Order: sequence, then C-alpha cells, then structure tokens
Amino acid sequence: MTHDDLQAPRRYGVLGWPVAHSRSPAMHQAAYEALGLEGWRYQRLPVPPDVFDETVRALPAAGFAGANVTIPHKEAALALAAEATDAAREIGAANTLTFRPDGTIHADNTDAPGLLAALGEPLPRTALVLGAGGSARAAVWALRGAGVQVKVWNRTRARAEALGVEVVDEPERAGLLVNCTSVGLDDPDAVPADPEGFPVVVDLVYRAGGTALERRARAAGARVIDGLEILVRQGALSFERWTGRPAPLDAMRRAARASS
Ligand code: NAP
Repeated sequence: MTHDDLQAPRRYGVLGWPVAHSRSPAMHQAAYEALGLEGWRYQRLPVPPDVFDETVRALPAAGFAGANVTIPHKEAALALAAEATDAAREIGAANTLTFRPDGTIHADNTDAPGLLAALGEPLPRTALVLGAGGSARAAVWALRGAGVQVKVWNRTRARAEALGVEVVDEPERAGLLVNCTSVGLDDPDAVPADPEGFPVVVDLVYRAGGTALERRARAAGARVIDGLEILVRQGALSFERWTGRPAPLDAMRRAARASS
C-alpha cells in the first residue's frame, strides 16, 4: 500500500477477544472524517485465539489494508507476520499489522513509541514500571531505549526478572511511575502502588470515571497521563504508519473520550 493512493477507500479494524468495548473504531473513524478520507472504514474484529491466524490471513482478500491488535493476540500477531520492525521483534508483540498489496503481513509495535509520545520531552531520568506482562515489556523497552533508568516491580517477581532490568521487592520512588498492571480495571478503589512522591504518573488502565491511581496521583500534585491518552497515542501512530499523514490527534482524542 503506498501513501499516495488515499483517495481509494480502505478498510481497517481491531482484532481482539473480546473487543466489544474497544474505543479504537470511534477514534479511527473520527480521524478518517477529520482528514476527509471518504468511504474509509474501521471496525471491530472479534476473533477467538484458535482461529486467529487463519482469520488474519483471510483479511487482505476481504479488502482489509491493516489491523490493530489487542488482548490476547499481540504475540500471535507478531508470530504470523513475515516482516516485523525491530520494536515489535524486541518487545515480542505487535499491535499494528499492515497488509502489503502482495499479501505480505508486516508487524509493528506502536505501544512503545506511543508511551514516549504521551510523555513528551524532557523525559524523566528514572522510572518505576509496575507489572511484567505485555504492556510492561513495551514500556520497559521504550523507556530504556530513550535512556531512562528503569526499575520494575511485579506481584510475581519471577516474571519481572525476564524483563532484563533491575527488579525491586517494593515499589520505590522515581521520576516517573507507569502502571502496567491491570489493578484498577475492575475495582474503582484499588491502586497498584502509592503514587505519592512521583512527579509524573502514567496509568495504562482506563475506566469510566477514572482510576483511583489517577485520582490519588492528581491529589498528590503529579502530572497524570491516563490510559485513554495512551490509547490515542498508539492509535495515532498506527494511523500515521498506514497513511503517511500526521494523525488528527484532537479529533481522535475527542472520539476516544466520547465513546464507551
Ligand atoms: P497482562 O500481560 O495480563 O499483565 C497483567 C499484569 O498485571 C501482570 O504483571 C500481573 O501480575 C499484574 N496484576 C494483575 N492483577 C494484579 C493484582 N491484583 N495485583 C498486582 N498485580 C496484578 O496485561 P497487559 O497486556 O500488560 O495489560 C495490563 C493493563 O494495561 C490492562 O489492564 C490493560 O487493559 C491495560 N492496557 C492499556 C492500554 C492502553 O492503550 N491504554 C494498552 C495495553 C494495555 P502477575 O505477573 O503477578 O500476574
């Protein structure tokens, strides 16, 4: 797919299981409208893991030019792609697939650069990442690559050891706290760690009404970046990979915050 044939309508989607509550369709559709990309469509693609590969391989023939990938398919998406960026390969997960006109599947990871884009410059010198799952791997990769000194805390210490950075037994202060656990998703009052003393706090979790971590971090005077902003930034970078155009960030942000 070249970047100069944006006049022809294209079809994209988000692969997940479940994916019913994804805000990506509203966000990308708003981007298409903002840029006048008529006839472009972005849809939910609910796909169970056991038929993920065969379904994705069928998408180009069904008219799709690419897809975002969310839980639980990010590792499988990387595995089936014939080509991958260093970011996707080194993180071990892909959230952005591009289907080339010759049928080649290309994998990228925009979660990592999306975090850096949300943080902006200058980056803090030190960071504590909470969690050791897929999103923690992307956060650690991004921050280390940008020269930030990263430590990790995880409930299950052994999983954190695999991330290749210093592991701490108790959360300790740093210039940045990044919550990559799922704590706060179901329980509106649960926090993964006390945010007091962190000047910048990123919570990947998002829920209607916000998380307790966001609220406590704001009350403690931190600059807070919430999970919806992280979602918007990774989506904006996927959009730019696919179109070669700067993403209409404000339109995407408004749509992500309005949809539920
Ligand atoms: P994951 O691979 O399943 O990892 C989950 C992590 O949460 C693990 O480190 C796990 O620790 C920890 N955890 C779960 N329950 C816990 C508890 N009660 N106390 C302490 N730690 C707990 O998930 P993921 O893909 O990394 O995603 C993590 C969260 O980020 C999810 O809530 C997801 O919705 C969110 N997310 C948001 C975005 C965005 O765009 N905003 C993108 C990606 C992910 P153990 O190792 O001990 O099990």
